[in-house]
Amino acid sequence: SKPSFKWRRVLLKVSGEALAGDHSQNIDPKITMAIAREVAAVTRLGIEVALVVGGGNIFRGSSWAGSSGLDRSSADYIGMLATVMNAIFLQATMESIGTPTRVQTAFRMSEVAEPYIRRRAVRHLEKGRVVIFAAGTGNPFFTTDTAAALRCAEINAEVVLKATNVDGVFDEDPKRNPQARFHETLTYQEVTSKDLSVMDMTAITLCQENNIPVIVFNFNKPGNIEKAIKGERVGTLIGA
Ligand code: UDP
Repeated sequence: SKPSFKWRRVLLKVSGEALAGDHSQNIDPKITMAIAREVAAVTRLGIEVALVVGGGNIFRGSSWAGSSGLDRSSADYIGMLATVMNAIFLQATMESIGTPTRVQTAFRMSEVAEPYIRRRAVRHLEKGRVVIFAAGTGNPFFTTDTAAALRCAEINAEVVLKATNVDGVFDEDPKRNPQARFHETLTYQEVTSKDLSVMDMTAITLCQENNIPVIVFNFNKPGNIEKAIKGERVGTLIGA
């Protein structure tokens, strides 16, 4: 019989920044390969994995809006297109090691990827395919963290696993203050009231309203993605 793990279906959020590493060309293939390998390992165990990928390594709408005559919505559409580039890169990497993958975009780009169709996404997962959700929510003024919370709720995934460059949530930036206090667990309330910059408010509120736990963890430590997906203790657990 199959070993039983804590989660049956997870939503892994990979930010664009995470993909960049210190590579000069926006995407570090060592990082995408590391993610692909760990995701492949857990799908082989029968855990269903959906991914939401960010685009901040290529373009972030909010930092361009207002400058050079770009209105916010146009800037955000460019940002959403950036997530599609990352998604295709990740898809190609996963398929190069034999992991079947589908990209679904929040707005149609049907020559490039499937459009987002909830039931179809679920079917792919049931068949053991990794589904990569791209183009965020498809709406300007949102983030891919919110897309992660939304897709998680839609496909009935049990947890949002947020891969970051730090070990979890601290009360201050641990890169600036090495004395910063680490939180093993937090309530949604604490995250919002202390304004701990974990996720934007829209994303965390959506998780709270739907009782979706969020785990913030360091994906740079080899094995951590696997651990988080299997439900082993890593990072900070945010819940009720
Ligand atoms: N974006 C958007 N709507 C969404 C998701 C993303 O407009 O639902 C745009 C927004 O401009 C954002 C960019 O896409 O800055 C890249 O996404 P995000 O900043 O969330 O990526 P990450 O921080 O995860 O790399």
